[in-house]
Amino acid sequence: MIHNNKRDVIIIGAGISGLGTAKLLAQSGLDVLVINRRNNIDCNLSGLIELALLEEIFGKIQPDSSENFLQRKIIEKRAYYLQDNDSTMVNFKPVDSENQTYSVLKKNLKTYLSQSCKVQGVEFLFDAVVRELIIQNGSVVGVRTDDKEYFSNIVVIAEGPKMILTKSQGLRIGEVSPSSTLLFAEECIQLPANKINQLFDTDGYGGITMKFFTSFSCESQTKGFGYLNLNKHNFSIGVGIPLKESIENKINVNDYLQKLKKHKILSEYFNQNHKVIGDYSYILPMPLDVSNRIIIDSRLSIDGCLVVGAAASLARIFDWDLYHMPLLSAKHAANVIISAKSKNDFSNKSLISYQNKIINEVLEKDLLKNHEFSSGLKLFTSSYSNLSDSNLYDDLNLYVTNKGVASVRS
Ligand SMILES: Cc1cc2nc3c(=O)[nH]c(=O)nc-3n(C[C@H](O)[C@H](O)[C@H](O)COP(=O)(O)OP(=O)(O)OC[C@H]3O[C@@H](n4cnc5c(N)ncnc54)[C@H](O)[C@@H]3O)c2cc1C
Repeated sequence: MIHNNKRDVIIIGAGISGLGTAKLLAQSGLDVLVINRRNNIDCNLSGLIELALLEEIFGKIQPDSSENFLQRKIIEKRAYYLQDNDSTMVNFKPVDSENQTYSVLKKNLKTYLSQSCKVQGVEFLFDAVVRELIIQNGSVVGVRTDDKEYFSNIVVIAEGPKMILTKSQGLRIGEVSPSSTLLFAEECIQLPANKINQLFDTDGYGGITMKFFTSFSCESQTKGFGYLNLNKHNFSIGVGIPLKESIENKINVNDYLQKLKKHKILSEYFNQNHKVIGDYSYILPMPLDVSNRIIIDSRLSIDGCLVVGAAASLARIFDWDLYHMPLLSAKHAANVIISAKSKNDFSNKSLISYQNKIINEVLEKDLLKNHEFSSGLKLFTSSYSNLSDSNLYDDLNLYVTNKGVASVRS
């Protein structure tokens, strides 16, 4: 059947992975439609990003044209191992390098990247929800929203970590595993820039970022992974615990977050009078299990369709740059789609090289050889009963500097 107004590509989701894919495809001359549901959650969400890969895909970012999505340039990274009454910290001050890390406001980042996509010719449909994929003769040929059908040669699912379509369309093999999924709670606190500078002993728009590996006694000794990011006029604190722990030991992740805020290392930052301007919860599946085995349990491609970003579990939870993996998957997906277009073959045979690239290059090469990720995973899973343990210092050091030869692959 020939459909009027058929695009080359439809992308479901205007998150970082969807926008990265859209930009690269439009730049190569493909017609791209991005569909995104109403999205209020991003308002005050913050994150960290390194500029190198972002600029490779979106071009040089001019700080004054960035609509304030670049908040503070990171001048100090700290990694803490916290127990109920103890703490160990290693810090690192990056020297000025090409690849600088910034704190970002997610909403402003997405606005800036969407604008860059529009300039490249990408078409957007906002406030529309894709309910299902349209499949003809075993191949995905389009999508169905509440009131309309849209057709394309290929559909890219970039729906983020909830994976609703990925699951309902049978692209996910089995349920998300509670042992390899973290449940997070995050709070955003508003403060004037000068107060933030006083509180965290920084100046200008210099930023400090902190990660916390926690082992607190709740119902059991529960491990958590937290973060604190400074923006210009607010700061965010979040923590994740394994979904399995939350279910089995009935631990509320919000209670765990309050426990983190009261830790003697952090309590000075949280004054009763501070205004909380957002609280959120979300889940993140990990691409590796605790033994460092790859657990991609989605099919990353089928005839006429690819899955990118957090929808395919491609999120590096322990990273300082939380957008790296979604952007890498966007880059590989775009390359495979451009090649499929040149052959006019959108079957899985033509797209399967995407899955191979993700497993061989992104996970095997990039993730498993990434010292920061490996040491992060080790810090998260090991129990350091004695905080002066030299392994703890080595692992914290490796985590903040990402230098060394350590590998924790079993
Ligand atoms: C509060 C919060 C904090 C986070 N912190 C971290 C972190 O510290 N580290 C980390 O690795 N990750 C974190 N994440 C997850 C993070 O969002 C992803 O790692 C990253 O943004 C993935 O990008 P993505 O493009 O794959 O998905 P997303 O950025 O989630 O984008 C998906 C987009 O698809 C849209 N969408 C979904 N379903 C549909 C549909 N059916 N129809 C139309 N549109 C749809 C959504 O509205 C959204 O805009 C966090 C998420 C949240 C919510």
